[in-house]
Amino acid sequence: MKELVIDLEAEKNEILKRYRALLRACKPTLQKGDKRMIRKAFDMALESHKDMRRKSGEPYIYHPIAVAQIAAEEIGLGTTSIVCALLHDVVEDTDVSLDDIEREFGKKVARIIDGLTKISGVFDTNSSLQAENFRKMLLTLADDVRVILIKLADRLHNMRTMEFMPRDKQLKLSSETVYLYAPLAHRLGLYAIKSELEDLSMKYTERETYQFIKNKLNEKKAERERFISDFIGPIKNILKEQGLDADVFGRPKSIHSIWNKMKKKAIPFEEVYDLFAIRIILDSTPDHEKADCWKAYSIVTDLYRPNPDRLRDWISSPKANGYESLHTTVMGPRGQWVEVQIRTKRMNEIAEKGFAAHWKYKESSTDSGLDQWVQKVRDMLKNPDANALDFLDDFKMNLFSDEIFIFTPKGALIQLPLDATALDFAFEIHTDVGASCIGAKVNHKLVPLNYKLQNGDQVEIITSSKQTPKEDWLNFVVTAKAKAKIKSSLKEEKRKVAEDGKEILERKLKTLKITYNSDNIYKLTYYFKLTSPQDLFYNVAKGLIDIKDLREFVASEKTIEIKPQDKIEADQVQNLLRNIKAKDSDILLIGEDMQKIDYKLANCCNPIPGDDVFGFITVSDGIKIHRTNCPNATKLMSNYGYRIVKARWTNQQELAFLTGLRITGIDDVGLINKLTTVISNDFKINIRSITVDSDNGIFEGSIMVYVNDTNHLDDLIKKLNTVKGITSVTRFDSLEKAS
Ligand code: MN
Repeated sequence: MKELVIDLEAEKNEILKRYRALLRACKPTLQKGDKRMIRKAFDMALESHKDMRRKSGEPYIYHPIAVAQIAAEEIGLGTTSIVCALLHDVVEDTDVSLDDIEREFGKKVARIIDGLTKISGVFDTNSSLQAENFRKMLLTLADDVRVILIKLADRLHNMRTMEFMPRDKQLKLSSETVYLYAPLAHRLGLYAIKSELEDLSMKYTERETYQFIKNKLNEKKAERERFISDFIGPIKNILKEQGLDADVFGRPKSIHSIWNKMKKKAIPFEEVYDLFAIRIILDSTPDHEKADCWKAYSIVTDLYRPNPDRLRDWISSPKANGYESLHTTVMGPRGQWVEVQIRTKRMNEIAEKGFAAHWKYKESSTDSGLDQWVQKVRDMLKNPDANALDFLDDFKMNLFSDEIFIFTPKGALIQLPLDATALDFAFEIHTDVGASCIGAKVNHKLVPLNYKLQNGDQVEIITSSKQTPKEDWLNFVVTAKAKAKIKSSLKEEKRKVAEDGKEILERKLKTLKITYNSDNIYKLTYYFKLTSPQDLFYNVAKGLIDIKDLREFVASEKTIEIKPQDKIEADQVQNLLRNIKAKDSDILLIGEDMQKIDYKLANCCNPIPGDDVFGFITVSDGIKIHRTNCPNATKLMSNYGYRIVKARWTNQQELAFLTGLRITGIDDVGLINKLTTVISNDFKINIRSITVDSDNGIFEGSIMVYVNDTNHLDDLIKKLNTVKGITSVTRFDSLEKAS
């Protein structure tokens, strides 16, 4: 091991320097006595972490100081939160107890620290109950939103300083971050933090792509800056002439969002037009801000032609997370679309610091979208039956979705997620209205329940006392509230039917002279391949299992051997892991261990040698190898972290792996022939399938081929790109996504 020489005196000075920087960041919110409180918290944290160091070798106290600094500077939180941020790891990692905290800092601080300590176990590697724990984490959110805000600051600092962590830890933290923390930051309106979290995750899960885009952005930086200054020059002048005080600048978009666009539209980096957005931040007074924003809009669109489809007015109807801004896309001087965002200083602070700033500016007690959202989370959590994983999925969907605004017949405004249906609207009005909904009138025209609402629709719900929730409703509703209510009502319905079924079964078994006891009920459940006795009763009541079926059971009874369910137990996982791990390393080597261990390559992402991969232990299908950038990877890693195995390729020569290419070009007789010649003759690669679409002279094809590794694939892509008529060749993940 390397000897570490530490200059303790220098470290002490550095700690004090960082502490003083923190105090400067807190200054805007400091009130009498606050400084003393912060000092007390700092002293306690310093003392209790004094023997601890981070993975990087630095003193541990750097971490709580940094978290407090983020909370103050980037989220705009006040003294109580600063104190809690400084102490956030104390109860968990040191001898200090919650009682000590309460004695020294009072009940409020102790409650928040308690919340923070509870969530720290949420993503425990050995926990198979991560979804359930996440639910608990949200319970603390309902209790005090500051818990989540400090947790976000904590996560952000950990992500910023992750380079010293082992690779598997990096992957796991990154996955959780994009899966949960970034959406949470988004929902709480912390856009800057959300983007940084996404970029940092991508830096670790998709190292090469991240670096590629970063380099590309750097290459064109000077050119871009020149363009921006040419573009904003005239805007600045006219704003000034018209007496508007404004800050105008260009802001680069995040690497993660650029990558998303490339994937979504299947285009190369060069074709992404919005690498940056122009921001106009106006200095305005409360009663003029809306007019000033529209004045600026009119100036911009007098200079540059706007795209009428790309105007977004979040000033008249702010987003549920409080975001207010005016977005427009205009044609720049070089025939390039440019996004322009117009807002005031106040709106900008809310856009950047989200929740905290929102409260600062909230004058009246009228419900803000954010309050409504927190209330919705509370309601959702109150539903005790909800399956934790379902809940997580529903919740996440609500985190991400954009909103539409719908009017009631009396003109009240209801916010719903994008793609919400008439039925979602009904459930939003009231549970009973949803449950008895048979149709709706949208803008006075009759529509079915699954009608997708458009922004600005006026909706009237038609109900009937005969109506009850139906199973297929779940196929089209999108709000978590509607889903939860439909599920619980179906469950209740099923329970009632099953109760009848239980009596019927008892009678039938009597006829067959079979004792009605739980042992036999389980045997029957297993025999009919059902998951629970309730299902059995239900099927009996519905006539799906009748006396004839029961006779068959009796006849076969003696030959049945009841096996436990195929369920992977914790100790089995451990055994499996021990077996996988090679003697001198804890990595699954793909290729070498091929014979010894049952594993398969996942067909959702078709990994090939050279890809960054990991193994996932499945219940009945051995170990599946996925790419770390597989669309399913984050979900697997954050929900089933304990089933992840590190994996690495060993030298592969003779093996061929299936991968897909998407090819676009100008349709030309013989293009397919040229393609297949390159693939089969020049590269001697086997083609599994080709599908081609050709539309108005544009050629679009998907080809599945067998390659040896990523180098082999890169060479092929390069060569195909030189074929005349072809405009792009990209790899895609799976067959399902090819169309
Ligand atoms: Mn921490």
